[in-house]
Amino acid sequence: MNRLHLCVNALFVVCILQSNAAFADPPELATALSSLRAAHPRLLWTADDEKRVAELAETEALLARLIEQNRVNAARMLDEPSVRYEIPDGKRLLAQSRKCIERVVAMAMAGRLSGERRFVDGAVREMLVAAKFKDWNPGHFLDTAEMTAALAIGYDWLYSSIPPDDRRTIRTAIVELGLKEGMVVYRSGKGWPARDNNWNQVCNGGMVLGALAVAEEHPELAAEVVRYAVASAPHGLGVYRPSGAYPEGPSYWEYGTSYTCLTIAALRSALGDDFGLHETPGLSKTGWFRIHTIGPTSMYFNYADGGTGSRPAAAMFFLSRAFDEPAWAWWHRRRLSGLVAEGREVRPSRQDRFFPLEIVWYDPRGAAPTPQELPRDAFFESQQDVVTMRGDCDDRNAAFVGFKAGDNRANHGHLDIGSFVYDAAGVRWAVDLGADDYNLPGYFGRQRWRYYRLTNHSHNTLVIDGRDQEHDDRADVIAYHSDAGRAACVVDMTRAYRSAARSVRRGVELVERRAIHVRDEIAGATGPIRWAMVTAASVDASGATAVLSQDGKQLRAEILSPSDARFEVLPNRPATSKENQNEGTSLLAIRVEPKDNADVVLSALLQPIVADKPLVAIEDVSLERWPNSLNRREP
Ligand SMILES: [Zn+2]
Repeated sequence: MNRLHLCVNALFVVCILQSNAAFADPPELATALSSLRAAHPRLLWTADDEKRVAELAETEALLARLIEQNRVNAARMLDEPSVRYEIPDGKRLLAQSRKCIERVVAMAMAGRLSGERRFVDGAVREMLVAAKFKDWNPGHFLDTAEMTAALAIGYDWLYSSIPPDDRRTIRTAIVELGLKEGMVVYRSGKGWPARDNNWNQVCNGGMVLGALAVAEEHPELAAEVVRYAVASAPHGLGVYRPSGAYPEGPSYWEYGTSYTCLTIAALRSALGDDFGLHETPGLSKTGWFRIHTIGPTSMYFNYADGGTGSRPAAAMFFLSRAFDEPAWAWWHRRRLSGLVAEGREVRPSRQDRFFPLEIVWYDPRGAAPTPQELPRDAFFESQQDVVTMRGDCDDRNAAFVGFKAGDNRANHGHLDIGSFVYDAAGVRWAVDLGADDYNLPGYFGRQRWRYYRLTNHSHNTLVIDGRDQEHDDRADVIAYHSDAGRAACVVDMTRAYRSAARSVRRGVELVERRAIHVRDEIAGATGPIRWAMVTAASVDASGATAVLSQDGKQLRAEILSPSDARFEVLPNRPATSKENQNEGTSLLAIRVEPKDNADVVLSALLQPIVADKPLVAIEDVSLERWPNSLNRREP
């Protein structure tokens, strides 16, 4: 390495450290690996851990069930095709990298636990296929990082069972296709090492796993990678401040947090030290964010570029142990048990490729939390302020509201300030459509706000004077309250509509733990105001009331203000045929034309129609008079 290179390296690490003064220093290059555990397996799951799991499975029926399920999954994989070098969209190898993790980790786990050679051979075969790829697509580095993770775990877990020639082939691939490509990015000082999003978490995680797997054969390279990764990781971890929320939404939480857990776990198991990464403010609370952002239907509050589908995430067991939160373990076991009880296979999917780590990190502790320990409502202060409210925590038919303020500049963010989802009677009535095709031109660049799914025009919020919300501004929660009977939140959305109105506030309340009340107070609008809610239900609208029907259930919607407003059903279509056409959905809408710039109050109440239960009625008071127990200064 030349002198200039060294200077640039040092400068980069210094810059990272200065912006993250709260963290421990990364290890010195010379001593980074001084505490390296000599023996394999050393990543995530040592021989001692393996013994602990085997013993625990004798008394923990769920753990035994997971182990058996993994063996079944691995056996099926033996007959299924291996990964291929395939970049179907011209950009990403990522699906193959994830498939490689899914297959290698499941077969390696089955090999370790059962001692059956066929699983070991299957995992080695898979790794050799990936090792012979011409590259791991470093131009889209997530692909490289995830492939490195797959081979690192397989190589380490099965080290003593892999023939020496194959070991060399796999190790060489980790070094040449993974770690050396990673060093090119670290040294450039550009891109994911300095980013505050999931890329930082995933790419550093893959690099740390790779480095620690081959550390005794390539000590200098491994030490350098670990040093860079530990210096870079605080950028990605900063997103959890201060409350544990995740700006990119709950499905990206699963992705980024899983890799953060892998990073911390691997540093601890291989070096005995995570260099203070676990002390990141907010990380110790992030399990609550996951618990609160999954509705009773198991669907996420899927703001930003996320889908609704949630799977168990083994990260919850790692976090429950790392931060001594047995309630998180209880909650996570309950989800896993629910899948087992329904007779469904708890099998991995591309999304759930770290399923075998449920076994590695299994936490048997914890009982049902008290209402004080697990409140029904939560407010997460973050780059994206998020509030969730719900009815009975144990009832699949319970009501659930997810509501957000936040920053339209957040990574993967939509123009969705003031948007909400609403579940009741087992149905998601108010829907967030989620992401569109990432390969649409300029999706992550200049054209982002041309796409219908990404703007306020397709979200459960306001459109004023036909305009987008401001692309570069944010909104804050200014009131929040939660007690036994009601939960309420008010967001000042003025900044998000600053070109279209003088003042805009929205309150959302969960009334009697089942109805949702949405009240907007708008002053000085420059043009017509449209209130909308995306729904997959069929809608029968008549004047100021509407009945929505879906899955044999009904929801009643009523306009409380203005007195002369009526519901309409509008198409939910984008401007171009390339975009997702949102089949099967429509917009339940209210349109108001303010006269002479007059203030407007838009207020609607929605509730499931349940036999023998009288409808909820409310007194529709101004937002000024809504309850507020939030000790937060006005922004
Ligand atoms: Zn959205």
